[in-house]
Amino acid sequence: MELAALIRKYAGPGPRYTSYPTAPQWAEVIGPAEYAKTLAKPLPDDEPLGMYVHIPFCESLCYYCGGNIQITHDHSRSARYVEALKREIALVADLFGQKRKLGQISWGGGTPTFLTLGEIRSLYEGITKSFDILDTAEVSIEIDPRVTTNEQLELLRALGFNRVSLGVQDFNPEVQRVINRVQPEAMTASMLEKARSLGFRGINFDLIYGLPLQSVDTFRRTLEALVQIGPDRIALYNYARLPSLLKHQAILEKHPMPSPEERVEIFLLAYEALEKAGYVAIGMDHFAKADDELAKAVENGMLYRNFMGYTVRRGKNLLGIGASAIGEISGGFFQNTKKASDYEKTLEGTGLATARGMLLSDEDERRKWIIQSLMCQFRLFSKEFESEFGESLEARYPHELKALSPFVDDGILTPCPEGFLVTQTGRLFIRNVAMVFDAYLNVSEGKKFSQTV
Ligand code: SF4
Repeated sequence: MELAALIRKYAGPGPRYTSYPTAPQWAEVIGPAEYAKTLAKPLPDDEPLGMYVHIPFCESLCYYCGGNIQITHDHSRSARYVEALKREIALVADLFGQKRKLGQISWGGGTPTFLTLGEIRSLYEGITKSFDILDTAEVSIEIDPRVTTNEQLELLRALGFNRVSLGVQDFNPEVQRVINRVQPEAMTASMLEKARSLGFRGINFDLIYGLPLQSVDTFRRTLEALVQIGPDRIALYNYARLPSLLKHQAILEKHPMPSPEERVEIFLLAYEALEKAGYVAIGMDHFAKADDELAKAVENGMLYRNFMGYTVRRGKNLLGIGASAIGEISGGFFQNTKKASDYEKTLEGTGLATARGMLLSDEDERRKWIIQSLMCQFRLFSKEFESEFGESLEARYPHELKALSPFVDDGILTPCPEGFLVTQTGRLFIRNVAMVFDAYLNVSEGKKFSQTV
């Protein structure tokens, strides 16, 4: 089947599987007590942890935004928040009972560079006081070129940050105006140059297709500019259009939107243009230059997927620090309270701000493993499942394996003696394959998710 026909067939709502079970399954019965108990459980001594730090503040609202954010021009707002973050970091470290190693740190938002130079330094020192950061650690930050200064970039690099991700979305000035994110091409290009000259690597650009006023022609020009500027990685997301849930997105509904057919054409155009320019498709929405660490991770089995999307595997336990931040540790997911002011109050008062989560059952762990294998190793091998869980994949999941047949017929999966391989084209539809193994999926929940392709 042709790619365009496959996209038409498989496009529909579905989870991104940055976690399994997905967030709608988590419950509020999981709180600070369960989180503290989990943190106190022993972990392998030499296994590094990841840490995600959420900074929710932004100076202006991009109308497509789906993040947990707080719009403010009041820069004094972040001082109290940074103190709360440092308190949470210290509390978590105390519960571990030893100084643990970090192999991956990521600051996201919101706009992490909303913080002043002093706050950036103070927060980073808060981390190094309680944790050892490995020399090989990936230390990344999301950068909004509209508000990030050269001084901030220089400080971040001097502290030890080595990766940056830039929000771009589209280079077309009209699209930018409508989505309320005016960011001239030259500004983005010069920030990348500055970051590269300072030694940042694996520089990522986020783009979105499916936004108002976008057409095949406008996006062709955006892709030309993108390839010309040449970031190392590109995340190309389908616009997560949920105006009934995210009221501010309703503003975009009054503008012409690309039709489903146009969205398919835009995606195909991007896919071809990026492949031609030397980028490798990592999963359904990530591309990387062939010599980038992320592309190499696909080859050597080190690709991993967590709340930050695709990353290079550096340990599976992840701490979530800050309002709404999600952690994954010792078989559980834990999410902090969403509102920054509630988060601050809790940290200043009772302590940990865990608001919901889930402790995984053995069945959840098995299905999670399968979904990770499909999404990161792009395969499902019976022997690997058996050596992980001591039982037969075929005996445990006969119905699910049977349900894979249409994907084989459509060239998304290839059967092999060990099990199934995901084809190169099939990587674009991997969310659909993963959905076969999602025990919690049903039609009503599906409506809360964005489009799979
Ligand atoms: S800068 Fe990013 S987080 Fe802030 S409103 Fe825009 S898209 Fe959302």
